[in-house]
Amino acid sequence: MPHQLSQRVSRIGQSPIHVMSARANRLKAEGRDIINLTTGEPDFDTPEHIKEAARKAMQAGMTKYTAVDGTPSLKKAVIAKFARDNQLDFEPNQIIVSAGVKQGIYNLMQATLNAGDEVIIPAPYWTSYPDMVLLAEAKPVIVAASIEQNFKITAEQLASAITPRTRMIIINSPSNPSGMAYTKAEFAKLGAVLMKHPQIIIVSDDMYENILWANEPFSNILNACPQLHDQTVVFNGVSKTYAMTGWRIGYAGGPKDLIAAMLVVQSQSTSSSNSIAQAAAEVAITADQSCVRNMCEAYQARHELVYKSLKAIPGIECHPCMGTFYSFFSVQKIIDATPEINNDVELAEYLLDKANIAVVPGTAFGTPGCLRISFATSTELLIKALERLTTACQTLFEPVAA
Ligand code: PLP
Repeated sequence: MPHQLSQRVSRIGQSPIHVMSARANRLKAEGRDIINLTTGEPDFDTPEHIKEAARKAMQAGMTKYTAVDGTPSLKKAVIAKFARDNQLDFEPNQIIVSAGVKQGIYNLMQATLNAGDEVIIPAPYWTSYPDMVLLAEAKPVIVAASIEQNFKITAEQLASAITPRTRMIIINSPSNPSGMAYTKAEFAKLGAVLMKHPQIIIVSDDMYENILWANEPFSNILNACPQLHDQTVVFNGVSKTYAMTGWRIGYAGGPKDLIAAMLVVQSQSTSSSNSIAQAAAEVAITADQSCVRNMCEAYQARHELVYKSLKAIPGIECHPCMGTFYSFFSVQKIIDATPEINNDVELAEYLLDKANIAVVPGTAFGTPGCLRISFATSTELLIKALERLTTACQTLFEPVAA
């Protein structure tokens, strides 16, 4: 007999990206020549000097629990990083280190949300946000940003989504999955709306800060509107910037009371994050940053390749990304032209079955009619995958286009 599950967990499901990726890997293990473009993690290895820091930490006996909110020296490095790269000033009691940004955001939601509270999530969104909100028994309020608006919400859309129950908004720029980043001027407009609602906590998920090639340097909403410092928690981590997804280190800077509440949740769940990974993360964010620039240049070169190919496929509508290692594009015209394919999920299944490429349907990110591909994979494989995608889309779209 199946076990009874909590109502909380029954409301959510496993990440659709993990499901799609697992399916692709299963087919691969069965001998199929699948190219997996679903994964949201760098294909680069963690740079050697960071690994060396971990080895040294182990040798030095840094193998015990640390303070729940992180080692004092990592917190000091995080404060210096926020000052150096983001012109943001934090005190040690405004910083917490967690087992990834995912845990940090989860902790904040557990610490601040109640049943019935509303959380504004612009779509397309990172798949975990709505489910984390549901786990906190609050309500996700999705605000859709179309491809015509470069997948970015406007101040007017934000203003009309706010109700007396709104308690939080999540902003992720550059965005997974869209690859788009808000400009400082756009942040200023969103910030002007949020300033009128001091009860709304702003989550600034800056995960892809360093994978950016937009016309202007990185900024977040606090840079555009410093007046929001009492409402904003800035999240960042080492997973994507330093190719350290498996090390599980993220950090947050924000108002003291919110950080203290996140610490309470963490102290009764996971305690401190991994001591050795903390030592490695400290070196990652303080040492010479040329590895970051090199990886970003590689992603940008791949983006040019991907964008050029996607642009040339009939039926695909695609805008150039400003950063990240994802392309997110509309396949609605192909779906409309293909009687046997009704939506993006079925198209992704078709591509896996018939073209041997695994992609993530836009529905997973709250934006049906689109697909996401990750170009955190070798150029050689990307070229092969894009050829397969082109052939498959031409097969589907040509009868109507002719
Ligand atoms: N935020 C965004 C937008 C992400 O894409 C991801 C990972 O895919 C995370 C947070 C989680 O990062 P971490 O590995 O630090 O938990």
